[in-house]
Amino acid sequence: MSQKYVYLFNEGNATMKELLGGKGANLAEMTNLGLPIPQGFTVSTEACTKYYDDGEMISKEVEDQVFEALAKLEGITGKKFGDTENPLLVSVRSGARASMPGMMDTVLNLGLNEEVVAALAARNERFAYDSYRRFIQMFSDVVMEIPKPFFEKIIDELKEEKGVKLDTELTAADLKELVVKFKQVYKNAKGEEFPSNPREQLMAGVKAVFRSWENSRAITYRRLNDIPSNWGTAVNVQEMVFGNMGDTCGTGVAFTRNPSTGENKLYGEYLMNAQGEDVVAGIRTPEPIEKLKDVNEAAYNEFVMYAEKLEKHYKDMQDMEFTIENGKLFFLQTRNGKRTANAALQIAVDLVSEGMITEKEAVLRVEPAQLDQLLHPNFDAAALKAAKVDAKGLAASPGASTGKVVFTAERAVEMHEAGEKNLVLVRLETSPEDIEGMVVCSGILTVRGGMTSHAAVVARGMGTCCVAGCGEIVVNEEEKYFVLPDGRKVTEGEWISLDGSTGNVYAQKIATVEAAVSGNFATLMGWADQYRVLGVRTNADTPRDAAQAVNFGAQGIGLCRTEHMFFAADRIAAIREMIVSKTAEQRAKALDKILPMQRGDFEELYRTMKGYPVTIRFLDPPLHEFVPHEDEDIKSLANEMGMTFEELKNIVEGLHEFNPMMGHRGCRLAVTYPEIAAMQTRAVIEAAINVNKEGLKVVPEIMIPLIGEIKELQYVKNIVTSTADQVIAESGVELKYHVGTMIEIPRAALTADEIAKEAEFFSFGTNDLTQMTFGFSRDDAGKFLNDYYDKKIYESDPFAKLDQTGVGKLVEMAVKLGRQTRPDIHLGICGEHGGNPASVEFCHKVGLDYVSCSPFRVPIARLAAAQAAIKFPR
Ligand code: PEP
Ligand code: MG
Repeated sequence: MSQKYVYLFNEGNATMKELLGGKGANLAEMTNLGLPIPQGFTVSTEACTKYYDDGEMISKEVEDQVFEALAKLEGITGKKFGDTENPLLVSVRSGARASMPGMMDTVLNLGLNEEVVAALAARNERFAYDSYRRFIQMFSDVVMEIPKPFFEKIIDELKEEKGVKLDTELTAADLKELVVKFKQVYKNAKGEEFPSNPREQLMAGVKAVFRSWENSRAITYRRLNDIPSNWGTAVNVQEMVFGNMGDTCGTGVAFTRNPSTGENKLYGEYLMNAQGEDVVAGIRTPEPIEKLKDVNEAAYNEFVMYAEKLEKHYKDMQDMEFTIENGKLFFLQTRNGKRTANAALQIAVDLVSEGMITEKEAVLRVEPAQLDQLLHPNFDAAALKAAKVDAKGLAASPGASTGKVVFTAERAVEMHEAGEKNLVLVRLETSPEDIEGMVVCSGILTVRGGMTSHAAVVARGMGTCCVAGCGEIVVNEEEKYFVLPDGRKVTEGEWISLDGSTGNVYAQKIATVEAAVSGNFATLMGWADQYRVLGVRTNADTPRDAAQAVNFGAQGIGLCRTEHMFFAADRIAAIREMIVSKTAEQRAKALDKILPMQRGDFEELYRTMKGYPVTIRFLDPPLHEFVPHEDEDIKSLANEMGMTFEELKNIVEGLHEFNPMMGHRGCRLAVTYPEIAAMQTRAVIEAAINVNKEGLKVVPEIMIPLIGEIKELQYVKNIVTSTADQVIAESGVELKYHVGTMIEIPRAALTADEIAKEAEFFSFGTNDLTQMTFGFSRDDAGKFLNDYYDKKIYESDPFAKLDQTGVGKLVEMAVKLGRQTRPDIHLGICGEHGGNPASVEFCHKVGLDYVSCSPFRVPIARLAAAQAAIKFPR
């Protein structure tokens, strides 16, 4: 038997998401539950994969199955595709395994041509031509890639000519005129007539959805959300029901709980006499769902009843689309709703107290990466109070944003690449093409659109602050300015602030403050901590960062980069002096300056960490980051060191390396200049002795970086232990300490059984390990990685998400070899990957003891570690 690629809705169910995509599986499930669903069929994700395997072609086999299903759908509906008596029209919509809102394409009203529309017009002329003009526009845009603005311009001109504001005010004759003009646009662009054969339209529609899986916004969305490209998308072909047939018709979207706050109250909006995209496109401002009760009480009550049923069934907040056709309610889709981090926590905690889910399930419900939204600054309360509200829109996605105004996504990307960190995108409305610009902005302000507009939905998904539907401002995108209600102009580059929780817009910069873990956040993190096996430490070099991390739940410092303690202007001179020293005396003098600074810093760190373990990594300064380059700096350092400018300049030039990341750094520095390691050991040990006198019980962990050969480690460790033992003996008190190493050079991973003879612990430095395994520089790869994503060589940045296939194999091997030699070896990771949820899951699976990440990612790592432990008990 040939493989099945097409499934009627009554042939599937909710467990078939991989095959039918989320939308298809849920439509099938809702059909089984007896909800009023316009019937249809799903072309599977396997058909999508096959389409790509077959060289972007839909095979005869798949096509035959589509038409077989279509014939069955005709039987179910009693309508006929392309018929002039009782025509069947369908929607063609994408539906991947994970929902990707707004990323893929939809065509409505498919199956219309001149004959069919004439037949429909005999019954309701305005509706017929309204549907037809929408179909031509969507088909042209989605299937044939003729840009939307061509059509929108024509609509705007016609509205102006007729003196009307809304599409609904256009008459049947006006819409008929639009159809003629739209077809002309199509012919001009394509050099042929608009396709009139419904079967051809259908196959072109299916193909367009498959193709949209690889459009650039889908690729970007997948990369941001960790969705593999080999999943493919399914296509749903569903009988059209019409919300645009007149005033007893309408369409809307609703959530069973508030997606911004999580409040347990039906939340949504609708528009009468409209089709789906009108609600989200933000052209007309929709009504709140409660008002539907006044318009059609029976439909409203039915909707509420089914919404509750769906939420109970899926045990999660649902995001539903519905249409009312001549007074009768239909559900078009349901899915677990996207929500802000605050809402996610509120809903998870509420569902537990309502007895719907367990604490364990609640832990799995919150996306770790989403917590990021809660960890970033809010407005300083006093500064906010003092600020004047200049305009108000809808509080579409919470958070505080202050930044420079930009008016296009492209400009946002440009300014971001030029180093601008704080940007606010101001647009009439956003569309999926804007995604790359939206990602780099901290806030989004739109003039049009409601709570379910593209801007609002996407911003909530990304955790970006958004104020939508701010009709009080007038935007001129071309000339790059907007005008506030009081007449003031704000131009590109000027600062504004948005409060996504109130909808307030301020034409000024407002100070922000740090976030804290409390309320629902603390409750959920408490549950998470019961399940996780991995410890979570932080990468911190200053008491301030360390304190932040402890607030966020860090249980130690996994990496203190000692060279970072010298970035401050008043300190860098000392480290430079040490680096450029020509003689041992000069270096000793520089080290004498550094010793008390280091000791003081370590004392502060130990105190901040209140007895939690602290791993101090010995100096690892890639020389190019530290040697002075400016003549001014060279001059002042020369003065300080009693050298001439030329003499020092010569030394600096001599230190130049062609490949500093593979240069004289890490333990290599200590091999050349053992006195550096001796000084650092003294600082670490003396600081521990000092704070232990205050009652703490610090057991310092000294970590030697960039080891590739056991003898390197033996050499440096020898300096460390002899110095430490001497300092301890001098002090007359007892002190335990540990010496370990980083595994960040492939050779160290390959010889980890040897290395473990000398190392009490390993910390995987996956930044360097990735750099050296791939053989590309962590500083330069950003310049070409985009080409790798575009050409589908890599799906994600290996410096952000651990490459489990290659680098991961080295980690796994080193874990095994290390434990072979030293069964109680302590194992952690301190590369950037330690805070990346997918990589944390990997660390759990390979049996590490802890992950260490930047302070702001500590809660993310805690939750990711708990989820990994629940999913993969070890
Ligand atoms: C690493 O290489 O992963 C690491 C943590 O060290 P650094 O980033 O300081 O090189
Ligand atoms: Mg490193």
